[in-house]
Amino acid sequence: MTARVLVVDDVPANVKLLEARLTAEYFDVITAMSGREALAICERAECDLVLLDVMMPDLDGFEVCRRLKGNPATHHIPVVMVTALDQPSDRVRGLEAGADDFLLKPIPDLALIARVRSLARLKMVTDELRMRALTSRDIGIQSPEREAVADTGRGGHVLIVDDRAASHERIAAVLVKEQTVDIEADPGEALFRAAEGNYDLVIVSLGLQNFDALRLCSQLRSIERTRNTPILGVADPDSDARLLRGLEIGVNDYLIRPVDRNELLARARTQIRKRRYAERLRDNVQMSIEMAITDALTGLFNRRYMESHLATLLEQAVARGKPLTALLLDIDYFKSVNDTHGHDAGDDVLREFAMRIKRSIRGIDLACRYGGEEFVIVMPETDLAVAAMVAERLRRRIAADPFAIQGGTRSIPVTISIGIAGLRGKDDNPAALVKRADQALYRAKRDGRNRVVPDAA
Ligand code: GH3
Ligand code: MG
Ligand code: MG
Repeated sequence: MTARVLVVDDVPANVKLLEARLTAEYFDVITAMSGREALAICERAECDLVLLDVMMPDLDGFEVCRRLKGNPATHHIPVVMVTALDQPSDRVRGLEAGADDFLLKPIPDLALIARVRSLARLKMVTDELRMRALTSRDIGIQSPEREAVADTGRGGHVLIVDDRAASHERIAAVLVKEQTVDIEADPGEALFRAAEGNYDLVIVSLGLQNFDALRLCSQLRSIERTRNTPILGVADPDSDARLLRGLEIGVNDYLIRPVDRNELLARARTQIRKRRYAERLRDNVQMSIEMAITDALTGLFNRRYMESHLATLLEQAVARGKPLTALLLDIDYFKSVNDTHGHDAGDDVLREFAMRIKRSIRGIDLACRYGGEEFVIVMPETDLAVAAMVAERLRRRIAADPFAIQGGTRSIPVTISIGIAGLRGKDDNPAALVKRADQALYRAKRDGRNRVVPDAA
């Protein structure tokens, strides 16, 4: 997929030049001649990345960047500031405005393409996560964009990997003002340390004395626990080739020695904010997956999940010639619990019942809340006779111990009825299996409740 780059500059010749160079590398390019035009294009989500000139009349680049990063709708779009001024203070101003990177005019070809490519790649990964997270917003999960906009990037946990004491001491002394800092002076230990520590950022000296720093960076990228941890490289001047190699491997950003302290602080904050944003997106996606398959009151699986999963379990059982049994459980006279003690007491009983179910089944059994006070347990590799014993044990445990309600101030007796049905060969199906369990449950109710009834095969 081609990334679409927005080039923003008030000088037409500059726009043309960048457009030509990016087009030659097969990027899709759109252009804007002013800050306002750029903001409108970003708001309409028409680009994947912005190359932004600093000096423009009206709104300058810093202000455009600040607005893009302060708006939840555009804050995820990477911004590269482009300037002719080689002033560290300018660079820092750009980073403080939230820019993801900085390029100096005239921009060397390699730097331009390497930075644009790596930011575009990162954006595609985040887009995927954002898309899924947007779905979860519909069901009421906090939007990660709002938190990201408010994040200062301070208070992170940083590991510095550098075998030159003078160098790591200087970097650490600057960072401790805003971050919690650990130092690893032995590069051979660094990978292990990074994997153990759950860091928000790893700063690697790319000119380690007795170790190949790029190898370390590529190892950090390849192991699961550090795959998403940002890496900030610290390079010696005139080591461009190595630096580009590093960026290709997955180093996220870099500083050139001698390290400017404000630039160090700003770049560390940017990486940490990005990392936290990505983590929030991931948590958010994870949470929405869990919410989609669990019942909120009891924490058991919901009916939708059970129905799709039962089909799989049934196919497996048929393919392997193994038995499989389904239990349908229903609380007796549950309506009168609500009527007598209130709806909250009814909820307490449902939660406690779910807990007791969980304690009575094996890890491979599947328990779900099927509807109001009806539950289903699917037991793979279990025949009707064994399932009947498990069901009978559960029935007795429910009846023997009253259920606590109203914050434990009272307890009430509860009984359940259970219908059981076993898989009947390869022509059986999930709906028919549950229906037979339901018919058995009906007989259990009819015959007086508080009992287990197997399907009469
Ligand atoms: P039976 O022994 O025949 O099963 O009688 P029952 O009263 O248990 O069955 P019925 O189907 O008549 O009533 C079920 C009740 O469960 C009615 C409904 O209000 C209640 N219920 C369903 N979902 C919930 C819930 O989430 N919380 C509470 N507190 N009650 C619920
Ligand atoms: Mg009932
Ligand atoms: Mg019922």
